[in-house]
Amino acid sequence: MRVAGLTLLLFSLCSAQEPDWPAVKAEAVQTLVDLVRLDTSQPEGNEILAARYLADRLKADGIDSVIVGPSEKRASIVARLKGSGAKRPLLLLGHTDVVTVDPSEWSFDAFGGAIKDGILYGRGAGDDKSVVAAELTVLLQLARLGVKLDRDVIFLGVADEEAGGLSGITWMLENKRDLIDAEYAINEGGGGVFERGFRFTSFEVGTAEKTPRRMDLRAKGTSGHGSVPKKDNPVVTLSRALAKLSAYETPVELNETTRTYFERLAGVAPPSEAAVYRRLLDGDVSEELQEDLRAINPYYYSMIRTSIVPTIVRGGYQKNVIPADAEATVDIRALPGEDPEEFFSRLKAVMDEPLVDLVPHPVTRPAHPPSPLSSPVFQAFEKVLGERHPGVVVLPRMSTGASDSAQLRAAGIPSYGFGPAKGAWDPGGGIHGKDEYLYVEAFEDYVQTLYGVVVEVAASGR
Ligand SMILES: [Zn+2]
Repeated sequence: MRVAGLTLLLFSLCSAQEPDWPAVKAEAVQTLVDLVRLDTSQPEGNEILAARYLADRLKADGIDSVIVGPSEKRASIVARLKGSGAKRPLLLLGHTDVVTVDPSEWSFDAFGGAIKDGILYGRGAGDDKSVVAAELTVLLQLARLGVKLDRDVIFLGVADEEAGGLSGITWMLENKRDLIDAEYAINEGGGGVFERGFRFTSFEVGTAEKTPRRMDLRAKGTSGHGSVPKKDNPVVTLSRALAKLSAYETPVELNETTRTYFERLAGVAPPSEAAVYRRLLDGDVSEELQEDLRAINPYYYSMIRTSIVPTIVRGGYQKNVIPADAEATVDIRALPGEDPEEFFSRLKAVMDEPLVDLVPHPVTRPAHPPSPLSSPVFQAFEKVLGERHPGVVVLPRMSTGASDSAQLRAAGIPSYGFGPAKGAWDPGGGIHGKDEYLYVEAFEDYVQTLYGVVVEVAASGR
């Protein structure tokens, strides 16, 4: 009996075989090309196209899925690989919608999926069909290799991320939470950075996000002739208010993610930069320190504070008429933990303009806590990346932008962001812009990393 038990053990160890990576990567790239060729651009979305494609791919491997959503077109797809139930599920999600395209700006067919010199061009190549394709690949591999799981692994191809998630993740959480409820989630929002020649310099795992809290400022006055100056000219009042807001330095604050980010960065950065990060970590919030930080990377300045950026001004209609009102839109990105009511009343005090009303926009991304670094998911990223790319620093990242992770974290599902690596010379990767692109090699590397992380978090005996 002992021998039989040993044989069984050996068999089960052997059955946990590695994927055939060259074949798996080729299939993943084809999946991505197929997805890019489906026009799921906002505002229509039409994500049903992607949902049907993904359902067919899953069905070919005998995996059931369900397509759900607020309407037939705005559909999301969910599939589940069952685990033993020893641990609560892991959710893998990616959004199937993309931002719109102005074809006249593109040198490639935005929905053609062309690959040239190792680069795939198309809307969604980076954001976010690469994530959807990688997650589908991971799910198919787990199923084909019969990997035993301690927890269910749920795949969610979700609609409507680019417009804030109301028909996507928000709808799912409000109406179909049982289908996607999980202990942890892995989503977009991170990845590697490489120098030319695929030399990785860092990896970032998204663990926090700022929260969009936009507002309009409405200045009122009395209209009149342009030849007669008035004290309450709303164009002047509004300009003064915007100038005061722009000069206002919001308080600097670090959380677990940003503190760890700068600590780890200080360990690998050139000495002059490391000294700036150490001053910040030591509590220096002087104007000089903040300018040093901004000079290294404008992004860092926004990472340590709630930011206030006027983006639209409207007012007046004729050169010789003083208008009765003028308006501005201000993009505010709040730190986790910022109390919006308190913040808006502080802004009113900073502006000190009785003729300006502050009108907050409706909230689509809820306030939410950062995801902890002590979780098995973050630790799995550290372990797998450490093994695959020894010596390359892994940074927890707070995005200044927003994603579906906001709703998940607010719903009590800590969410971690990772995706394909980008070149250090173009960290944006053309996302949302013309000629959005993706290095195929970076995508393939990401697929393999993601598989390792999911096995680490969900497979039995880990
Ligand atoms: Zn995205």
